[in-house]
Amino acid sequence: AAKVEQRGSVALFSEAMQKAADEKRGLAEELKLAVEAGQMELHYQPIVDASTMRAVAAEALLRWRHPRRGLLSPDVFIGIAESTGQIGRIGAWVLSQACRDAASWPEDVSVAVNVSPAQLVTNGTSEIVRTALAESGLAAKRLEIEITEAVFVRHGTQAEEFMRDMNAMGVRIALDDFGTGYSSLGYITRFPVSKLKIDRSFVSGGAAIKERNAIISAVVGIARSLNMITTAEGVESAGELAWVRNLGCTQVQGFQVARPMPAAAFADFLKSHAATPGIPKRPMPAIA
Ligand code: C2E
Ligand code: MG
Ligand code: MG
Ligand code: MG
Repeated sequence: AAKVEQRGSVALFSEAMQKAADEKRGLAEELKLAVEAGQMELHYQPIVDASTMRAVAAEALLRWRHPRRGLLSPDVFIGIAESTGQIGRIGAWVLSQACRDAASWPEDVSVAVNVSPAQLVTNGTSEIVRTALAESGLAAKRLEIEITEAVFVRHGTQAEEFMRDMNAMGVRIALDDFGTGYSSLGYITRFPVSKLKIDRSFVSGGAAIKERNAIISAVVGIARSLNMITTAEGVESAGELAWVRNLGCTQVQGFQVARPMPAAAFADFLKSHAATPGIPKRPMPAIA
């Protein structure tokens, strides 16, 4: 009986795996047409200065408005785009759209764009950035590229070349999800990085935890002494906001400030934000 049961569960398991693989293949096929069909959207999440609470930038976050499945998050399809070689084409669309959107914002608001390791290793990413800036007319200093530490581990040379290109063009580099990777601290001094984005896992739900306090303080200290900016990601409550501001983070981003929103909503956000300087649309909680 045990044997039958075992065989049964193996069959069930491979059936589920088969189904997942089929689904992935289906999405990969549909992904090929998604950009041209106008199904890709960029949502923008405000990043505010920690002392003034004014919006200084927005992070462009990719969404796929799938005809049957609804709005898909990047976690569902970026991996597929990477493994099927489509990330280069999709990433080029993201860069060009983000620069075009940002060109219509006030000049003191920048745009941050995520570039994955798979994109970095396809040569020509520097050229794609250059084209996106030229065609949109966006000043290079208003574009920031977010990369993760993971890129240094396997693609150090290409990453270095890309970062030097960006630096020469005046485009800033931020290290995303900082603290979660395997890279050594040496990287942040060796490469032209201007910002450390402290990963959400150190921030969300962490205000009372001593170790998290130590981690964030240490990152803020390193960044300060190296003349870098810090952004606390994933600030989800009033308490967390007060906490990371007190620890000296330069910028904050998270649901407590604002959720990612469609481009048109972000344009409105900026307008109401400008009308009442320093006070975001949603009332900000008092600082503890
Ligand atoms: P990320 O770059 O670390 O982006 C931040 C993610 O955290 C976003 O998820 C955002 O919606 C979410 N987030 C922001 N504030 C909060 C908060 O307070 N609480 C919580 N729980 N989450 C928060 P999203 O939009 O699902 O993006 C996931 C990841 O997908 C991004 O992580 C980024 O690595 C990747 N991604 C997004 N857009 C692109 C893109 O255009 N190209 C590439 N290559 N990757 C992208
Ligand atoms: Mg990011
Ligand atoms: Mg991040
Ligand atoms: Mg992330």
